[in-house]
Amino acid sequence: MTCPICGKTTDADYRPFCSRRCADIDLGRWLTGSYVIPGEALDEDEPARPDPPADEAGEAPRRKPH
Ligand SMILES: [Zn+2]
Repeated sequence: MTCPICGKTTDADYRPFCSRRCADIDLGRWLTGSYVIPGEALDEDEPARPDPPADEAGEAPRRKPH
């Protein structure tokens, strides 16, 4: 059996990888590929919407009062 990351011989302690380094690389790919990216996109969407200041709404002459 060989390491799926670099192709070296698998180490029994880090199967199916050859070392902890390659195991971490595989974990990093898994996390960045399916976890971080969609989460970031959603988080940036919310704070991007500015709330209209209450003062401006009151000063605008075109807006009818309730
Ligand atoms: Zn490796």
